[in-house]
Amino acid sequence: MKDSKPSVSRDLFDQVMVPNYSPAKIIPVRGQGSRLWDQDGRDYIDFVAGIAVNALGHSHPRLVQTLKDQGEKLWHLANIMTNEPALRLAARLCELTFAEKVFFCNSGAEANEAALKLARRYAYDHYGEQKHEIISTLNSFHGRTLFTVSVGGQAKYKQGFEPTPGGISHVPYNDIAAMEAAISDKTCAVIIEPVQGEGGVHPAKEGYLEAVKALCEKHNALLIFDEIQTGMGRSGKLFAYEKYGVVPDILTSAKALGCGFPIGAMLTTDKIAASFTVGTHGSTFGGNALACAVSEVAVELLSDPELLQHVETTAAKLTSRLQALGEQYGMFQDIRNCGLLIGCEMSPAYQDRAKDLVNIGHTEGVMLHVAGPNVLRLLPPLNMTDEELEEGLQRIANAMAKMAG
Ligand SMILES: *Cc1c(COP(=O)(O)O)cnc(C)c1O
Repeated sequence: MKDSKPSVSRDLFDQVMVPNYSPAKIIPVRGQGSRLWDQDGRDYIDFVAGIAVNALGHSHPRLVQTLKDQGEKLWHLANIMTNEPALRLAARLCELTFAEKVFFCNSGAEANEAALKLARRYAYDHYGEQKHEIISTLNSFHGRTLFTVSVGGQAKYKQGFEPTPGGISHVPYNDIAAMEAAISDKTCAVIIEPVQGEGGVHPAKEGYLEAVKALCEKHNALLIFDEIQTGMGRSGKLFAYEKYGVVPDILTSAKALGCGFPIGAMLTTDKIAASFTVGTHGSTFGGNALACAVSEVAVELLSDPELLQHVETTAAKLTSRLQALGEQYGMFQDIRNCGLLIGCEMSPAYQDRAKDLVNIGHTEGVMLHVAGPNVLRLLPPLNMTDEELEEGLQRIANAMAKMAG
């Protein structure tokens, strides 16, 4: 029976799925820690973690147990009732961050949608409807709803979906003069990723976020940090704003917040939250008991100082080894990172060939990702062990050798 073709094959994707994705040929069926196995039993070291989602790797025993326990108790109530896991999770997030209030939803785009709507509503309540403009950065990514693609700074995600919502402008990232020129008393919010993730792994430069915050304060605009990718321990702090020492007015989280169970959250202060009065915003699944129970444990494990220290140590090891490999093969011209969010910019000799390296990686038993055509992106589970790391690096080296040869 070993040779029988699995009934679910990659071809089935093309038959039954909307063609908005182009997934890899291999189909993983099982995962443990930072390792995945495909239908043929081949194993892969996972440096992608479901795009920064599986921050505790696959099948973490505590998360699995929590899911089972809560699954036998209560899954869902909707927000006509509240539930214990949601309140415990919200209380914990408030303890661990600047926030005093939390709104739950199911994804990153929804968290940003809530943040942007709240910023508009807050400005409307306190200053009037003329203060509605939103400033974002070029190359940023904030999700795929119509509002969030409009706020995101990549034209290709908006094209053909117009008309898009108005009152949104974009300035170059890390350019404080451009921000100063764009911001005014009509600005209700500035939204920024502390590290642009999808946009190519570009960390904010020293002083940039402080300067943006000062401009926001001057113009009574809210500062929104999109920490959907940078949050939940990936930077080496629970949230990257702690690392930068700049506190936002609103913070959005998703991806690793549930370590694989879909959940998003928007965090803010009492004063700002007050503008979301009863009935102004909502989500059927937001605050789902099953999601919140899993996330509560994820937050507990990801805020552990030992784990956060492990992120720093692993990030240092991984980046220096990638640096050495890049030099050996002349393949990377720049390596940027914030903790375990790592981008390797391809050198001119390998211009726009990051995806080729990802594909070769699959044949060598390693999962890698891209951030645009010219940046290889690594976002491994934060608890990747040294053994997994060594084995993964060996496979990355093999893939690079193959590409160079
Ligand atoms: C992934 C991501 C989003 C969108 O999250 P979804 O869950 O896909 O809606 C938004 N912002 C950033 C910075 C992200 O990395």
